[in-house]
Amino acid sequence: MATRFVIIGGGPAGHTAASHAARHGAQVTLVERDIVGGAAHLWDCIPSKAMIATGGAMAETRRASAMGLAQLRAELDYDALRVRNESIEDRLEGSVLTLLESQGVQILRGTGRLKGPNEVVVERADGIEELHADAVLLSTGSRPRIPDFARPDGERILTTRDAYPPQQLPDHLVVIGSGVTGVEFVHMFKSFGCEVTLIVSRQQVLPQKDPEVAAVLEEDFLARGVKLLKGARAVGIERDGDTVTVRCDDGRVVTGSHALLAIGAVPNSDELGLDAAGVETDGGYVSINQHCQSNVEHIYAAGDLSGKLPLSSVAAMQGRKVAEHVMGLHTREHRHLDYDKAASAIFTEPEIADVGLAEAEAFSTGRKLRVTKVPFSSSAKALIEGDPRGFVKILSDPATGVVLGGSIVGRNAAELISVLALAVTAGLRVTDIVESLLVHPALAEALSEAAE
Ligand SMILES: Cc1cc2nc3c(=O)[nH]c(=O)nc-3n(C[C@H](O)[C@H](O)[C@H](O)COP(=O)(O)OP(=O)(O)OC[C@H]3O[C@@H](n4cnc5c(N)ncnc54)[C@H](O)[C@@H]3O)c2cc1C
Repeated sequence: MATRFVIIGGGPAGHTAASHAARHGAQVTLVERDIVGGAAHLWDCIPSKAMIATGGAMAETRRASAMGLAQLRAELDYDALRVRNESIEDRLEGSVLTLLESQGVQILRGTGRLKGPNEVVVERADGIEELHADAVLLSTGSRPRIPDFARPDGERILTTRDAYPPQQLPDHLVVIGSGVTGVEFVHMFKSFGCEVTLIVSRQQVLPQKDPEVAAVLEEDFLARGVKLLKGARAVGIERDGDTVTVRCDDGRVVTGSHALLAIGAVPNSDELGLDAAGVETDGGYVSINQHCQSNVEHIYAAGDLSGKLPLSSVAAMQGRKVAEHVMGLHTREHRHLDYDKAASAIFTEPEIADVGLAEAEAFSTGRKLRVTKVPFSSSAKALIEGDPRGFVKILSDPATGVVLGGSIVGRNAAELISVLALAVTAGLRVTDIVESLLVHPALAEALSEAAE
C-alpha cells in the first residue's frame, strides 16, 4: 500500500514536499487554510519583490538621461500596483495548483492540526475531516512578530503584511527594524518618493552582515535622504489621527504618517496540536535533525516552522529532502542539507547577495583565508548599463583554492551569486571560475577577475 503522507501548510516547504513525494508514489494530502504556495511566500516575499521591481523601474526612468535618452518621468499608479501584485500571486498559486493536481495530490482547504502521532484533524468550512497518516510534514510557516508596545491597525501602524501596498502611500514612513526585511521596505518606499526614517537598534544596518557591505547600503540610504536613527530601540508607537509617533529607549521621538514593524517573525505552531503527538519545540519552533525529523520520527517539520534559515529557497529544499526521506530515498547517494551554504539576497539598490563563509566570521576564528575583491567600476558591462556601483568579493582557501564564500554588491547581485553558490556547494576551486569561458561583455566577468 502507498505511503499516506499528510502535509499541513502549502508554502514552499509543503508544496515542494507534496510534489516530490507524489512523484515517487506517495498518496499525498496537502492541507492549506489560505493560499497554496504559502502565506509568507505569496503574501510577503513575492509582493515585496514585485513592489521593489516597480520602484526599480521608476529609478531606471530617472537614469534615462545617463543612457542617452531624453529625460523621462514615471508616476506611481497605486491601483495598478495593487492589481499587479494580485495577478502575480494568482498566477503563481495557479501554477502550483496545476502541478499538484496533475500529480494526484489531494488538496484539502482547511486548518489542520495533529490529534495524535498518526492522526490529523482538518477543520473545513463544511465540517471536520480526520486523516490517518504514515508520515506527517508540519510546514505552517510564520507570521510577523508584533511587540507588546504596538497595536497594528492595518492603516497607519503596519505589519509587513499590511504594506503591499498600504491603503495610502505614506508621506513619511518610520520603519522599525533594520534587518533584511526592514531595509528592503526602506528602499521600496524611498523609491516611491516617500520620506523614510529607519530606526536602527545597533550602530549598523544589517547587523548580521559584512560591515563593508552594510556600509555601502548606509551610504546609498543617506545619499537618497533616508534618516537613520542609530542605537535607538523603539519602545512605543501611538497613533493620533493621521500622525504616528514612535518613541525610542534613548528618549528620541519620531513623528511620521505611518509606522512599519519589521522586527522578525513568530512560528505558526501554537494551534498545531504538537502536545497531542508529543512533538518537542524550542521557542515555538519544532526541533529537527538533519533529515528534518522531529523527536517523533515520522513527523517532520520544514520551512520557517523549523527555526532554520527563514528563506523560501531553504524551505523548498527542506521539503524536497523530507519527501526523499519519507520515501526511503535518502539511503542512495545524496547531499545533506547544509544551511551554511545557502545563498541569500537583499533586494535593495544596489542589490546585496552572499553565500558561504563570511569574512569577519572567518577572521574571528583565526582561519586562514584568501580574499579578493574587484569593483564593478572596471567592468565594461557595468559601464554600458550605466551602473558601476558595488563589488565582488570571493573568499577561498589559500592552500587548495576551494571557494568558501563570497559577497556581491551591485546590479543583478541576486542572479550573479548563483555562480558562487554553485562553486561553494560543489567545492569548486577559483581556477574553475577563472577557466570558464564566460560571455563578454557581462557582469559575471567580475567574478572571474575576483577569482583570478
Ligand atoms: C517581507 C518578507 C520578504 C521575504 N523575502 C524573501 C525573499 O526575497 N527570498 C526568500 O527566499 N525568502 C523571503 N522571505 C521568507 C520566506 O517568505 C519564508 O521563509 C518562506 O515563505 C517560508 O516558507 P514556509 O513553507 O515555511 O511557510 P509559508 O510560506 O508561510 O507557508 C506556510 C503555509 O501554511 C499555511 N498554514 C499555517 N497554519 C496552517 C494550518 N494549521 N493548517 C493549514 N494551513 C496552515 C499558511 O496559510 C501558509 O500558506 C521573506 C519573508 C518576509 C516576511
